[in-house]
Amino acid sequence: MREKVKRLRVLITGQVQGVGFRPYVFHIANKLQLTGWVQNTAAGVVIEVQGKNTDEFSQHLIANPPVLAKIDTVDMTVIDSCENDFEFQIIESVSGIVTTKISADVGVCDDCIKDLFDSKSRYHFYPFLNCTHCGPRLTVIKNLPYDRTQTALADFPLCDACHMDYHDPRNRRYHAQATACSECGPKLSSTLDEIVTCIRDGKILALKGLGGYQLICDARNENAISQLRQRKHRIAKPFAVMVADLQSAKCFVKITAEEEALLTSNARPIVLLSRTENFLPDNVAPGLTQLGMVLPYMPLHYLLFDALNCKNAALIFTSANLSGKPLMIDDQEAFTDLSSIADKIVSYNRNIVTRVDDSVLRIIDKAPYFIRRARGYVPSPIKLSHSIPVTIGLGGYLKNTFCITRDDEAFVSQHIGDLDNANTIEFFHESLTHTLKLLAVEPEYLAHDLHPDFYTTQCAQQWNLPNIPVQHHHAHLASVAAEHRLSEPVLGLVLDGYGYGEDGNAWGGECLLLANYQYQRLGSLTPMLLPGGNKAAQEPWRMAAGVLYQLARIDELEKRFAHMTDIKFLITMMDKKINTPTTSSCGRLFDAVSALLGVQLISDYEGHASMRLESLVTKTCVLANSWHIKNNELDLFPLLEFLLTCDAVSGANYFHGTLIAALADWILSWVEIKKISTVLLSGGCFLNRILAEGLTQTLAKKNVTALLPRQLPPNDGGLSLGQAWIAGNVAR
Ligand code: ZN
Ligand code: ZN
Ligand code: FE
Repeated sequence: MREKVKRLRVLITGQVQGVGFRPYVFHIANKLQLTGWVQNTAAGVVIEVQGKNTDEFSQHLIANPPVLAKIDTVDMTVIDSCENDFEFQIIESVSGIVTTKISADVGVCDDCIKDLFDSKSRYHFYPFLNCTHCGPRLTVIKNLPYDRTQTALADFPLCDACHMDYHDPRNRRYHAQATACSECGPKLSSTLDEIVTCIRDGKILALKGLGGYQLICDARNENAISQLRQRKHRIAKPFAVMVADLQSAKCFVKITAEEEALLTSNARPIVLLSRTENFLPDNVAPGLTQLGMVLPYMPLHYLLFDALNCKNAALIFTSANLSGKPLMIDDQEAFTDLSSIADKIVSYNRNIVTRVDDSVLRIIDKAPYFIRRARGYVPSPIKLSHSIPVTIGLGGYLKNTFCITRDDEAFVSQHIGDLDNANTIEFFHESLTHTLKLLAVEPEYLAHDLHPDFYTTQCAQQWNLPNIPVQHHHAHLASVAAEHRLSEPVLGLVLDGYGYGEDGNAWGGECLLLANYQYQRLGSLTPMLLPGGNKAAQEPWRMAAGVLYQLARIDELEKRFAHMTDIKFLITMMDKKINTPTTSSCGRLFDAVSALLGVQLISDYEGHASMRLESLVTKTCVLANSWHIKNNELDLFPLLEFLLTCDAVSGANYFHGTLIAALADWILSWVEIKKISTVLLSGGCFLNRILAEGLTQTLAKKNVTALLPRQLPPNDGGLSLGQAWIAGNVAR
């Protein structure tokens, strides 16, 4: 009689489907000479194993899972052994109940790069190879379950060799839905030689990428860059740079261990890094000390650098879109619309289903921090502390994202853009519809910004759902509370550009108390004048003019800005409060200081004036007694008056250092009164590294825990989660 052996039943949950998990289990079972089976089910991956070595199975299982797998739970029970079990099998999924989770797109893996440059491989030099561990996901999926027929690869039937790989559990491409080779897969519209010649000649190339078309030119060619700027009508906004590898990146930027890990991670984001020497022309990122760098993530990019065959090649790498419009994905549109910008347009014959920009991050306090969240991260959900009804947060107006909750997870969309043009609005609706379909949810509540004129507010009214307005800065902080899974009362500091306040005024430098999904406005920065209204946001000199007026320094005002406008008229406007609202915005405070110090009088892009100011900081210093806290306001005007006597660099140093000290002082006064020692920080100003790190560290010394957003950007790209979280909980 056969000896009785142990049989285990294992249930694994998490991101374990469509990531090569079953072949991984198959491999372990064979190695341990176990029999049984593995199967994808609605609950997760279910395994039964039987044999002498079952005790070792669990350790092996969690030791080295596939790169894209994320194990949440492993549940193991001993069950009765089975008599007729002679081998280990992968059983087909029960149809209709496979995973409803989609992986983000993943940069090409090391094994695929080996294949790419292996002359004996059938993937040799094939620009679109991929495997279960890498390649396109979100950008090719039309519908679920994730199956080749439901992707953009449906039009490319597998050749015999790919078919064999696809069905072999020992192969890395077992069930790799997007697998392709030069025999059966998509093809590039140009040769690599043609592409490289174009770049070497200083021309501008439009290249179809993973999530849309990209514009590329030689980043060491000043003329090529200025051509690109002219044609794209992009005067000063910094460009990202792609380099071949870490080694080349180090020629242009300083890289810490944390930055290196982020830059080389399989999400392959653009990472903001400190420029070292002037190897690259200044017009890559005019007037800035930080440079956005990205490493190749498509096999095509690797081939490009290989063909360039030049040490330290660097390429400008930027989204191909016409000013303000979303990233281009349509080939027809690209060939017509991009012809005014690019000298050569290179495509391939496979559709991009979902448009996704590159993600942009920087390291703050030794951890990744989003500036823009898109490719490589979306649609991974953000885990919430508890389930809420299905709620859509429609997001804000600028840097829009939307958010859809399902149980205790929040799915925040890729960066959509500014909803100020028909094309971006169309992209917003297209993505919202697509995501609702993929998540297979029926929304119950809708949340939007309090601003009556935002597109999203109007849009909310067209849905036949209860819709809940959420104040802009409340949403900013609620987003941080949601991702950190906090439910107790906390303090919050929002330093932002603009948000519509309960009183109709422009808010943006607010101290709030958050409790029970409601907020109380504890105080704000002392309001500043906005001479010219909205214009003041694009023209920082107007903010500086307002400051001089408030300081009663009319002579100085005329001396500094008479060349900018009819100054007498501007002063009369301020006297009579015509077209001169006020704002507590910290973003505008940065603008004012930038202009007062003569750094940036007119902003060419959002954040221009403040980014240039941050770039000047060499060592922060604090000017004692240059702020007051009274009537729940933080008044920094004494500091502003002092800055009039400073040069740009010392002004930037004093402003950053003193602002941090003053904010800490202000928060600590509330910590004392409210007996709360956790403060959430958010708003676009916290993209400033000196401010974010400085304030966090200063508060830590006083035993106050300051939490920054880590899974979403602090700017308006993070609003939608906060909206949905508040609305879903209030409705619950
Ligand atoms: Zn791969
Ligand atoms: Zn093939
Ligand atoms: Fe905001």
